[in-house]
Amino acid sequence: MNTPAATAKKTPMIKRILVRCPATAKLTATGLTIDEDLYADTPLKNHKLTCPHCQQVHAWTKKDVVLAR
Ligand SMILES: [Zn+2]
Repeated sequence: MNTPAATAKKTPMIKRILVRCPATAKLTATGLTIDEDLYADTPLKNHKLTCPHCQQVHAWTKKDVVLAR
């Protein structure tokens, strides 16, 4: 599973985890951050957030995530 590129040391790229509101299509910050290098190996399941755009609680998974600087 290892790739040559993964062995090189780099500065961690910390990203903010955003999800898109299904009601308003606006991006919403989850308050979570992640090192982009670890993201591919990090399971994200069963998360919920109270959406500031539509006031509903959205369940989100990895496929809903947008990473932002
Ligand atoms: Zn929403």
